[in-house]
Amino acid sequence: MIGSSVVLRTRSWIVLCLGILTIASPAALAADCPGNPDALGTSRTLVVDPREHPLIGTMQYRETLPLKDREVVLTFDDGPIPKYSNQVLKILADECIKATFFIVGNQAKANPDGVRKLVAAGHTVGTHSMDHPLTFDRMPIEKAEAEINGGIAWTSAAMTDPSQLAPFFRIPGLMRAEGVENHLISRGIQVWSADFPADDWRHVSSDRVYQLAIQRLEAKGKGILLLHDIQARTVAALPKIIRDLKARGYRIVHVVPASADRPATPTNPVEWLLHPPTETVPIARWPAVPHFVFAESRTLPAPSLADLNARTEHQSLLPRRTRGQMDIASTLPVPGRALFAIPEGSVEVLLSTTLSRRAATRLAMAAETPHAARSKVAKSKTAKPQARHTALAAPAAPNHAAQVKSAPPRPTRVASLKKRA
Ligand SMILES: [Zn+2]
Repeated sequence: MIGSSVVLRTRSWIVLCLGILTIASPAALAADCPGNPDALGTSRTLVVDPREHPLIGTMQYRETLPLKDREVVLTFDDGPIPKYSNQVLKILADECIKATFFIVGNQAKANPDGVRKLVAAGHTVGTHSMDHPLTFDRMPIEKAEAEINGGIAWTSAAMTDPSQLAPFFRIPGLMRAEGVENHLISRGIQVWSADFPADDWRHVSSDRVYQLAIQRLEAKGKGILLLHDIQARTVAALPKIIRDLKARGYRIVHVVPASADRPATPTNPVEWLLHPPTETVPIARWPAVPHFVFAESRTLPAPSLADLNARTEHQSLLPRRTRGQMDIASTLPVPGRALFAIPEGSVEVLLSTTLSRRAATRLAMAAETPHAARSKVAKSKTAKPQARHTALAAPAAPNHAAQVKSAPPRPTRVASLKKRA
């Protein structure tokens, strides 16, 4: 018995030690960076299957890469242009960092050697259209396809081994459109938005680029950083960004596409959300009244303008509107309808119809506060045509605000109803 228990213990120690070695070995890469013992390095490689998670980047989509806290993915768009791209390559090489580059077809055509250098350095190479038009959100799908194909054709033509091209695409200016996304998805190409930019295409100082990169990263704690390897200010800011990432304990993750001999890194669906909900969050956030406007829940979150300093010279990076509805894969989870069955004629039904939301809100409030309810409900019933008229004529009529103010303490659920309406 004792003997077997010792054997078991020894085995578990071996397993534990092996586990520690496995976890520790990628981090050792940083220390192994030739000539730079203080390099930031690349902490791990994440293998993703574009078909499983086709739309990533919280600036526009529900999902992003399954990164752990303090993990960062560096991405560079619009190159290669030798003057700056080579400097970016050198800076990354000095720090043993692997990044993802989104190539413009015309640049690959003009500078195929630049593409080969990226591949030789072990970076991931995706594409970014042929001509970088900022009209993907409104061009005919045939034109979008030609742009996508041109970028892929010239980038892969520049490669010694075209199979090195990753099925990753970033829409120029992030001008997303449902048709374009669906087309890319149908081809197994992953659409990369980002989690935060550093405004390095704007006429700002390199110091500003550095500040924005760090500030926005710190705000989210992890994510995909969007940069451009064709800008002098990016070249100037990059060493500072990398040094600060190191000082703040961030780690670089290299993303590569899954293939037959390289399976995707196992992940849970929830890891693809920037901040997975905790067990209590859904209860706290969901309104007690089952008012789910399904159409609304299907719309995408717009990129945070605060994040982007909305008034930029290069407005095109900001998707102006999230037009249309997204593929179901990118939408928020819809709660089971049966779970929140809505009785006919209830306030909730009223809310979801074309009847006045204001009248419905009053009804909801009345229902919440039984002592004040009866007279108010009666009042609102008789005054209904008038209320409707007022609502149509002046959507933000101050007399309504007064009514709300004079009502008993407003239940939270009413507030959330109004906000969502
Ligand atoms: Zn671009």
